Amino acid sequence: MRGHEYKSGQEDVEIGGEMDITCPYCEEHTKAKMVSKYESYSAHGQVVVEAEVVVCSKCDNEIFDEELDGVTIDKVYQGTKQ
Ligand SMILES: [Zn+2]
Repeated sequence: MRGHEYKSGQEDVEIGGEMDITCPYCEEHTKAKMVSKYESYSAHGQVVVEAEVVVCSKCDNEIFDEELDGVTIDKVYQGTKQ
């Protein structure tokens, strides 16, 4: 089996950067932090990509960000071509 090496036990890594958001979960106007984590997708086989996501610093819910999601989808697409 070739392709991606998968490190188990990988934890979310805070990569810095804060932004002001209104969280759709706790409905607070608060800060959100950027974290990096590994996500696995099923697209013509299993693809694991490093995804950057925005997390509410109050309730820890992941907040959808269209731009970051687009980057992640691109990585998945790149991964499936190999
Ligand atoms: Zn929240």
